[in-house]
Amino acid sequence: MSWIHLLMTMTDELRRLPSVDEALRAAMRMNLAPEVVRLQLVEWIRTALNELRQRIMNGESFDEETILEAVIESTRELILLDAGRQLRPVINCTGIVLHTNLGRAPLAEVAIQRIQECAGYVNVEMNLQTGKRNARGERVVQLLRQLTGAEDVAVVNNCAAATMLALQTVAAGREVIVSRGQLVEIGGGYRLPEVFTASGALLKEVGTTNRTYIDDYEAAIGENTAAIIRVHRSNFSQCGFVTEPDLADIVSLGRTRGIVVIDDLGSGSMHGMAAFGLHEPTVPASVAAGADLVLFSGDKLFGGPQSGILAGRQRWVAALHHNPLMRAMRVDKLILAALEATAEIHLSGNALSDLPLLQMLTRTREDVHKACESVRRELNFPNGIEVSVEPCLSEAGGGSMPGAKLESFGLRLAGMNAECFCRELRIGSPAVLGRIHEDAVLLDLRAVADHQRDELVKCINRAVRHCSDKVRE
Ligand SMILES: *Cc1c(COP(=O)(O)O)cnc(C)c1O
Repeated sequence: MSWIHLLMTMTDELRRLPSVDEALRAAMRMNLAPEVVRLQLVEWIRTALNELRQRIMNGESFDEETILEAVIESTRELILLDAGRQLRPVINCTGIVLHTNLGRAPLAEVAIQRIQECAGYVNVEMNLQTGKRNARGERVVQLLRQLTGAEDVAVVNNCAAATMLALQTVAAGREVIVSRGQLVEIGGGYRLPEVFTASGALLKEVGTTNRTYIDDYEAAIGENTAAIIRVHRSNFSQCGFVTEPDLADIVSLGRTRGIVVIDDLGSGSMHGMAAFGLHEPTVPASVAAGADLVLFSGDKLFGGPQSGILAGRQRWVAALHHNPLMRAMRVDKLILAALEATAEIHLSGNALSDLPLLQMLTRTREDVHKACESVRRELNFPNGIEVSVEPCLSEAGGGSMPGAKLESFGLRLAGMNAECFCRELRIGSPAVLGRIHEDAVLLDLRAVADHQRDELVKCINRAVRHCSDKVRE
């Protein structure tokens, strides 16, 4: 075929593409997306038409009949993609307890209730006893002071914001010393050194990847040095020929030389959990060691909503409040409500039993085993599908306790297409997330709450039926 001929065929095919209106009418006739608003549907049809135009130009060919079908099919895929993005509850069978893609810490029941109660008008900046205005989050700050032992506390949107605010306040245009062993990337391409420099502070790296001594910090202090920042290696560990000074030594150096010491803990554990084989520095220990500002996330080991907490010396917390950035980073009433409820649980001394996150992290393997057996008894499968309860390893995840593996149990389902099964589980309601291991699907029940079990059974039964039907077809 000559190129002229090709071009003419292509033009013909492009002309056959339905108009947006035609495609829309077809979509409505087929009841393609009854719950979707019309404008959204029109947008997807436009996108589908553009896609098809591109495919034709790339040499694909369609006739009168298949072309409308192809447009509808593309639109259907866009609708499904959108449904997959819609925020929906997930039953977490990945075995990763703090899963950043799944919103990190699941909130305690009372924290969820508090959010609901405070969703309308709420005295976020008023003391109801006096009827006078007070500082936003005044009570939560007081609870956090008690918990951490710090003179004062400030709350912002997340720990990244806390780092930014701390450095901007303390060290904009001046030097901040940091060990080369602590220039961490947290995940999602988020590199701490980039946040540090975005704050306007000048990074001064000292030591080597594996060894930094207190003398390295001391030698780096100059006229323009404002702070030393220590960053907790929350998502990886170093072993072997490794040295790092204690926080107390850095603090004492800071004191003598008039330099602010910032401790970015990230994970924010309130309680020592070594008894459970979980090793993570605690916030109260860093405060007690004398760090001027200790930073941590509210939604990691603290087990609350996404937030960043700065605990430390009154003088520096006051300086944070004077920084205009503070206003840009302040949290809303719903976060404050959940944070307050979570802090109350920590103060009550019942955190291990009342905070779902800590409860899941410290759960025994025997307890998970029992949960697996009780789910297995409820499953009813067609022939050919095998289900067993197998030992496996869970992880803390989400930038905490790197490398720590928690002995656990999971349901292993085999005898069908694992990809199909996982997909069916994912698109169910609620969604269920598991993992594939050697052609079987493994559902670790460590991070599944007791009250989710009935739903989980339904979801598994449904997905299995769907995938085993497909195999037979
Ligand atoms: C997780 C983490 C952060 C970022 O916390 P976000 O709350 O996700 O912003 C910062 N520093 C360290 C050491 C962390 O582990």
